[in-house]
Amino acid sequence: MNLNQPWNIVFLIGFIIYVGIRHKFSVLTKDNEKTFSRIDTLEKILLFIVLLGNILLPAIYLLSRLLAFADYALPRFVPWIGSVIMVVSLWLFRRSHTDLGKNWSISLEMRKDHQLIRNGVYRLIRHPMYASIWLFTIAQALLLQNWIAGPSAVVTFAPLYFLRTPREEQMMREAFGKEYEDYIRQTGRVFPRLK
Ligand code: SAH
Repeated sequence: MNLNQPWNIVFLIGFIIYVGIRHKFSVLTKDNEKTFSRIDTLEKILLFIVLLGNILLPAIYLLSRLLAFADYALPRFVPWIGSVIMVVSLWLFRRSHTDLGKNWSISLEMRKDHQLIRNGVYRLIRHPMYASIWLFTIAQALLLQNWIAGPSAVVTFAPLYFLRTPREEQMMREAFGKEYEDYIRQTGRVFPRLK
């Protein structure tokens, strides 16, 4: 295992917490019936690409020496910044799951009695969970000192974010109509709307 580098251990701990949060909310939402799904071929391809950069490449890097040819050294302060970003990311990831509660799905789906959440972190931004994943991908790039496994998640999350978000907003618009239109006007996507 490639854990001689202490920052790899920091990343691994963050990754385990991330998976733990996901697992907890998968269990919580398990019995909440899904009434609508837009998981088409595009969505499946996007999820597969994310799987490569966010899970598979870091796992290969941490578990083997296959990617060692792409190792490089960052200035000492960079992984410290990465660790702080990781903590913020995990906080926001957990908080957005808690706020969404039983309405959460891993993909483009609607639940029985789906409620539009506009409170908690959703009061300021519409996609706090995606914001937290962006932060996680940045933390990965600053912690894993390898040209492939470091930036891989930023690269593979980008298509999912940019292609899914408008489709998700369209789905929510169809489900909640004017209420969602108003919500869009009052919030930013991943940055709070200041005006
Ligand atoms: N894009 C959001 C949620 C990601 S989870 C975020 O980044 O925080 C994806 C699922 O959450 C969507 O399929 C949709 O069913 C649900 N969802 C998204 N925004 C929601 C909201 N404001 N209230 C309730 N459910 C929401």
